[in-house]
Amino acid sequence: MRLRVASLPTLVVCAAGLAGLLVPATAPHAAVDAQAELAAALAAARKEAASKDSDRARPARGTALDRQVLSVGRGDTLMEMLTGASVPRDEATEAISALRDVYDPRKLKVGQRVTVLFEPRRGAPDRFVGLEFEPEVARSVSVARRGGETFQSAQVKKEVRRELVAAEAVIKSSLFEAGSAAGVPVSVMMAVIRTYSYEVDFQRDLQPGDRFEVLYERKVTEDGQVAGEGDVLYANLILSGDATPIYRHAVRDGRIDYYNRDGESIRRALLRTPIDGAKLTSGFGMRHHPILGYSKMHKGMDFGAPTGTPIYAAGNGVVEQAGGNGAYGNYVRIRHNTEVSTAYAHLSRFAKGLKRGARVEQGDVIGFVGSTGRSTGPHLHYEVLKAGHQVNPKAIDLPTGEKLAGRELQAFQQTVRNLDRAYREAKAGMQLARSHQPAGEDKGCSKGMIC
Ligand SMILES: [Zn+2]
Repeated sequence: MRLRVASLPTLVVCAAGLAGLLVPATAPHAAVDAQAELAAALAAARKEAASKDSDRARPARGTALDRQVLSVGRGDTLMEMLTGASVPRDEATEAISALRDVYDPRKLKVGQRVTVLFEPRRGAPDRFVGLEFEPEVARSVSVARRGGETFQSAQVKKEVRRELVAAEAVIKSSLFEAGSAAGVPVSVMMAVIRTYSYEVDFQRDLQPGDRFEVLYERKVTEDGQVAGEGDVLYANLILSGDATPIYRHAVRDGRIDYYNRDGESIRRALLRTPIDGAKLTSGFGMRHHPILGYSKMHKGMDFGAPTGTPIYAAGNGVVEQAGGNGAYGNYVRIRHNTEVSTAYAHLSRFAKGLKRGARVEQGDVIGFVGSTGRSTGPHLHYEVLKAGHQVNPKAIDLPTGEKLAGRELQAFQQTVRNLDRAYREAKAGMQLARSHQPAGEDKGCSKGMIC
């Protein structure tokens, strides 16, 4: 997952305070009436079928419609699934075309359960009456026969509220493991690692006993189901006693980024960890497989990770070389500016379409970890080159130089105060206000609410 600013949700964490965090993420839909109507039609169809069916011996299933639950397999199309369940082809075609109004059936994921509904008929084959599934926890989609003949689709989106969750942990082997031990969802840990990849070398900078803190959003439906995670609002890595807190902040032009406490963007022109940091093998205690850092003998950085781990372009640039390169094995070199290039060695394979002259952006996957060339095991050998010579990546710190100032800085300082407090409060286990109030409507602050 990429922390591309443009694609981040437009949730505003700002001087207005954190009350906005608790608003429902999904506004009730205007079309809800039509959907409710349709849902009612479906229920009525069930009921009708139930009454018709009452004299027939059937296992109790809560409804007399026959429900066949299908699971999407690899390469399955909905058409194949329906016809495989004995839905006549023309009816399947109609139902799918109705579904397209609310859902693109090509987006069905492997493992998605789809319930296909049949109305049992005496002396005739069961009649296909519709289907339903939940592509997301907070969204259900259905297709039902309407007026007996035509199919119509509907979707119901459940209201989702955002809660703030705080977690902290001591790092024993890796940040990722510490996160999962503390119950932090994988997506949140990946976002944290990804964000810190600008300034932390996850293989070498972490020591046992280092700590981290994180404050993130959790989306919860009205019926209490976790619908996923929102953004990481605050994180802090405490490495050898040095705290490096980062805060998510929206500047006035709407851009969202992470800043250190001084209001400096934490972005760098080059990533310190140009690999999926969640997959790194533990840097500590690996006596037999030293994960080498930069030295006279070894002019690069080694990142130990399983074969196939994605490798990222450390910065924006142009691919200068992509191919076999002797002891380096499969090798990529990217030129970032007139002086600085980065090189990646021992790849198992290159990303699709990666070739000399291709433009890459920071964070693009350029290839995958392997052990080609002269290598004793799967790892990424990474070099930073300045004027063609390998240099210690630590010596090349290229901040983007974005620093908030003036009123932007003041607004950011308010964000810092809000998030620091939100973290303390969430950590203290304070019950967050279960508020459904829309944004901008301040009903005042009650105990336990973040205002
Ligand atoms: Zn190496």
